[in-house]
Order: sequence, then C-alpha cells, then structure tokens
Amino acid sequence: SLSERLGGVFDRLKGRGALTEADVRTAMREVRIALLEADVALPVARSFVDSVTEKAVGQQVLRSITPGQQVVKIVNDALIEMLGPDTAELELDVTPPAVVMMVGLQGSGKTTTTAKLAKLLKKQGKKVMMASLDVNRPNAQEQLAILGTQIEGATLPIVAGQQPVDIARRALQAAKLQGFDVLMLDTAGRLHVDQQLMDEMKAVADISKPQEILLVVDSLTGQDAVNVAQSFGEQVPLTGVVLTRMDGDARGGAALSMRAVTGKPIKFAGVGEKLDAIEPFHPQRVAGRILGMGDVVSLVEKAAQAIEAEDAEKMAARLAKGQFDMNDLRSQLGQMRRMGGIGALAGMIPGMKKAQQAMANGAVDERILLRMDAMITSMTPKERTKPELINAKRKIRIAKGSGTTVQDVNKLLKMHQEMSTAMKRIKKMGGLKGMLGMLG
Ligand code: GDP
Ligand code: MG
Repeated sequence: SLSERLGGVFDRLKGRGALTEADVRTAMREVRIALLEADVALPVARSFVDSVTEKAVGQQVLRSITPGQQVVKIVNDALIEMLGPDTAELELDVTPPAVVMMVGLQGSGKTTTTAKLAKLLKKQGKKVMMASLDVNRPNAQEQLAILGTQIEGATLPIVAGQQPVDIARRALQAAKLQGFDVLMLDTAGRLHVDQQLMDEMKAVADISKPQEILLVVDSLTGQDAVNVAQSFGEQVPLTGVVLTRMDGDARGGAALSMRAVTGKPIKFAGVGEKLDAIEPFHPQRVAGRILGMGDVVSLVEKAAQAIEAEDAEKMAARLAKGQFDMNDLRSQLGQMRRMGGIGALAGMIPGMKKAQQAMANGAVDERILLRMDAMITSMTPKERTKPELINAKRKIRIAKGSGTTVQDVNKLLKMHQEMSTAMKRIKKMGGLKGMLGMLG
C-alpha cells in the first residue's frame, strides 16, 4: 500500500524535524504512481503532485505519527479539498420549468441517471417531465418512456421523425403548459467526440437555456477523461458532473480528472443499475479509493488526533501558567473551524463553550470565526501577546485592516478578557489537570 511504500522512504527521518524538499519529492514519486494506478489522468496527477509538494515542504513532523503517515494525511486532505465540495445540489430555483440537460458519451449512463434524478426530484415534491432527444439509437426514446413508467413519472409523448431541437422545443412548451417544475432533457450519446452531435447538443442548449448541464461520466474512464471533459466543457457551459458505476471497482481517478479539467462540482455518484442507486458525491470516500488504502481513514483520523493532542498539550502548558493571549484564542478559533466546533479544549473553556454550542446548532456562522481571525491578524505581534496595549486609535486601525468595525474589535477584546480571567481562575483551582480530576 501507499503507506507502506512511504514508510520505507521515510524510515531514516524517524519522526523528527521538518519535512525537507528532497524527502517530500521522493515521497511524491510514490504518490504519483498511486494516482496513476487509480486512473488519474497524467497531466492532472502531475499538477496535483506539484501543488501538494509545495504545501508539504517545511511542515513539522508530528511526534506521534511517522513522516510517511503525515505525507499521506497531507495528500489525503489535498485530495478531499480538490474533489469537494461534498454538498453540491441541483440549482433549480427559477421560474419553472427549470431545465436539466444531460450530456456525455454513449453508454456513460445518461438515460439511467435522468430517471434516477427525476425520481429523486419527485420525492422532493417536484413535478418532473423527462424527454429523450436521442433519435440516433433505435428505441432510445422508448427506453426512457419505460423508465418513466417505472418511476411513475411523466415523459414527453414520442412523435416519430422529429429532430432533437424540435423535440426540445416541444418538450419546453409541454412542460410550461402543463405546469412542470423541472424538465429533464436526455441527449443522444456519442461514441467519441463527434462534431455533428456536438453541434446538435449546442443547438439544444441554446434554445432550452438549461439551469443545469450535467456531464455524465463512467467512473472507469481512464486517461481519456481529460479529453472528454475538455471537449464537452468547450462546447456547452457545464454546471456539474455525475460519475456513474461507482458501485464497481473504479479507483476513483476519473473524479479527480473531471474536477481538475472542468472545474465544476461532482454533484452525484451512480452506484448501481436500480433507479434509486444514486447518492451525493462523497469526496472523503473517493480520496480513500484513490490512495488505495483501506486503512487510510483510520490513519488520517489518527494523524488528526495527534495534531489535536499536540495542540492541546501546548495549550495545556500555557493554561497551567494562567496564560491565554490572542495567539491562543486564534489557535482555538482555527481548531473550531477545522473541527466544526469541537476543538480539543473549546468545551472546557468557559465562554468558548457557549460559542461551541452555538456553532453546533448552526447559530454561529463560520464567517464570524473568520472575521475574528482577521482582527487578530491585523494586530501587531506585541498586541497579540498583550492586548491591553490596544488603544482607541489602534482599534480603528485594526477594524480597518480586517474589514470590521470598532464595535467588533471591542467584542473580541471583551471575549478574550473573559476567557483570560477564566484561565486565571482555573489556575487557582489547581490548573487544568486539577479541573479534569474534578470532572473525574
Ligand atoms: P446512456 O447511453 O448514456 O444513456 O447510458 P444508459 O443510461 O443507457 O446506461 C448504460 C448501461 O449502464 C445500462 O445498462 C445501465 O443500467 C448501466 N448503468 C448506468 N448507471 C450505472 C451505475 O451507476 N452503476 C451500474 N452498475 N450500472 C449503471
Ligand atoms: Mg441514452
């Protein structure tokens, strides 16, 4: 596995110091092989490795995990970030009917996905009509009609001899007249990129003005992914990607290629032939598949815990002395952001606990934390360790520098003051250890 391979590379580092450029480059050779084995297209693998190399060089190696594990974590995090977002929904908030157009190669799963999405939207209470514009393959329109019956959904009545653009026009009109919320247009497949079919697809997009144009791609697509994504993306304004056959043994590389080349979110994953076999795309799972390690999740969790533990240790040492300056506050805010409100110590610190609960309830916006962070960034290093130095004039500068108001700065200072007082009280009670002891 990748972690074993990287283990070998990093044996001599023995968990000390920072990751050097040479070490990271050696490790990244292994990562590149893993990416190519997972069917990531070569140019995509190359640029991914370059960007991760930059991020990794100079990072401190944690005591509790090996450098190899740490590189895996860095690569895994970067993959998830690049594959995300993990909540990409269809944007159908327009005057009905909202048009969803499916495009892609022949056999990629367009027709099946059309019916799956129609079923999903129906469950959400939407009135959905499907229309097949595929006049190339015999019985393609009938295939969609049959799927329509299966999901008890409406399909546009078939009229023989019509061209795709005419069918699209008729479908739009019918959907408007009959009050459908969504019109799904299933287009003809292409065996490969074929200009006549591309022109037809463009013409359909021109007259139907889709809210969503989804590129449907078989997740088993290998090096060809770049070509497919590029040619479709050049012809029509894609809004998202659907990866099909994720139930098979695809290694997930196509997902990374698609994301890198189109820049559009992967909105859904097809996970079977049945019409409810569709799910939101999960970047975490696919990152695990790409790295090809069953244990990557636990490994990454272990690394994350280690980082938490080291942060917590450092913090506890400062707290034991009754210290809590703006740098400590900033590190807690960052942790809350990363962990979605569950920082290592956040729950134990009075004042922080309230903020943490509010965040868990969705009452605190991440933007508030980012704003607080911006204010701390606008302070001088001296002010961060001794916030009592901040006078009225400096408050105005800090507010300006962070795009906030003096009122916001005052609130932050007050919050810090309260927390700092709480720290001193904790110290009197015998420090954090004493407090933990009291809690059992
Ligand atoms: P189209 O040519 O793009 O319209 O592709 P179809 O929708 O006709 O699908 C081609 C084949 O792929 C059919 O046999 C589908 O049942 C199958 N298929 C589509 N999506 C999936 C999926 O997510 N998983 C699996 N296992 N099969 C799928
Ligand atoms: Mg089809």
